[in-house]
Amino acid sequence: MMAERLARLKAREQDPKVRAANFEEVCYGFDAQEAQQEASRCLHCKNPRCVGACPVSIRIPEFIAAVKDGDFAGAAAVIAQDSSLPAICGRVCPQETQCEGSCVLGIKGESVSIGKLERFVADWSRENLPAGPAQQPAPGAPKVAIIGSGPAGLACAGDLAKLGYACTVFEALHETGGVLRYGIPEFRLPKDTVLQHEIDNITRLGVRIETDVIVGRTVTVDELMDREGFQAVFIGTGAGLPKFMNIPGENLCGVFSANEFLTRSNLMKAYRDDYKTPVHAGAKAIVVGGGNVAMDAARTALRLGAETTVVYRRTEVELPARVEEVHHAKEEGVRFELLTNPVEILGDEKGWVRAVRCIRMKLGEPDASGRRAPVEIPGSEFEIPTETVIMSLGTAPNPLLARTTAGLEANRRGGLVADEAGATTRPGVFAGGDAVSGAATVILAMGAGRRAARAIDAYLKSRA
Ligand code: FAD
Repeated sequence: MMAERLARLKAREQDPKVRAANFEEVCYGFDAQEAQQEASRCLHCKNPRCVGACPVSIRIPEFIAAVKDGDFAGAAAVIAQDSSLPAICGRVCPQETQCEGSCVLGIKGESVSIGKLERFVADWSRENLPAGPAQQPAPGAPKVAIIGSGPAGLACAGDLAKLGYACTVFEALHETGGVLRYGIPEFRLPKDTVLQHEIDNITRLGVRIETDVIVGRTVTVDELMDREGFQAVFIGTGAGLPKFMNIPGENLCGVFSANEFLTRSNLMKAYRDDYKTPVHAGAKAIVVGGGNVAMDAARTALRLGAETTVVYRRTEVELPARVEEVHHAKEEGVRFELLTNPVEILGDEKGWVRAVRCIRMKLGEPDASGRRAPVEIPGSEFEIPTETVIMSLGTAPNPLLARTTAGLEANRRGGLVADEAGATTRPGVFAGGDAVSGAATVILAMGAGRRAARAIDAYLKSRA
């Protein structure tokens, strides 16, 4: 194999020192010439392992061949057959454990930059191809309700609209996109350009969106089906219920869940001077946890001006966040206190956080997760002064819909019970994404939404 094929072309990025103080996108992506150069590294394997490792089986070698030939519109058409959110997935998918993790070039060298190529094609399409014509469902088309406008709900609605159904998406918040809007920060996923464009592509298919509707409160699933004429329902309500540590001091002012902190910053644009949304990062912030959400919260707190420390109870090897995210966080100046766990949050006389009391940990025997369990070192307590504590310990599905919908069952962890195609325990009601699996990934949610669309189509045809 030629030596130049082994190394990938690095995408350009904003300087870490500059970007640590702004919310603009970190990665600039490839330009056309760079994309063609990187595409020419693909070996076009007869048995493309990358396709098998993609949760939605995008025909990767085919789109990369089109990029290599400069046929960017052709590449976009190949991707569109399997993905409705390519500019998003090209930016946020954990490619290193999926397509890129299976690339043959990765055995001796570096895998093809598949994610960056997908992103290039999607961005090129947005900037160069005309938007498709606005469509409307035919009068009398069967009505399907989609609950939640995250990737699962949007993908399900888009596919059903293409099949001729009249879809209405009901969204609890005042803006659409789910975690893509309120969780993932602007510096990883620009909202007004990238996200809004992909949502517009879906509404142009004739999908209606009603915001500020909390299904289970404003209207129930039973009312949608019995009174409002929806013949099937898809639930894509995500997993937005935060977990806490249950340690003393968690009720003090200045303690946030990562979801609340990121929502204030992203959705309510607290980071912009022309918005008055309160968000408190303070001079020093501590983020508890080691996942991708913790990295997003830490990098956001840093950009809001806080000296930020991630506190995690295992070592760097066990950090669940993507290596790229940890690398970016470190480059920007986020500090890490590893093998450390909070035991108490300490407040001042006005009820605001002033410090976190922590204990040092060591790794013991492997636990149920297969990872070595963190064990406290007695007598090693110490304090870290801080004004803000952001708890990023994972989330679970909200129990509201299971509690308010007759016949809809949830499991012990709060996930809705559904089969592979998304059929729940209630006939005509389907579900997918984080609402079923618990917190997972954008592409898995999108894939679940698309599978459920096919199952809803089959269900409605079987009743026609
Ligand atoms: P969501 O995106 O959560 O959308 C659910 C929607 O339903 C929300 O808009 C919610 O308001 C709405 N809703 C909830 N209840 C109701 C109701 N009763 N009535 C009406 N509407 C309701 N994944 C990746 O692949 N890569 C990443 O880099 C990545 N980073 C992440 C960063 C953060 C901070 C977070 C929190 C998650 C991240 N994830 C990432 C995970 C990914 O975003 C989720 O797995 C994905 O968004 C799940 O999609 P979903 O459609 O199932 O749910």
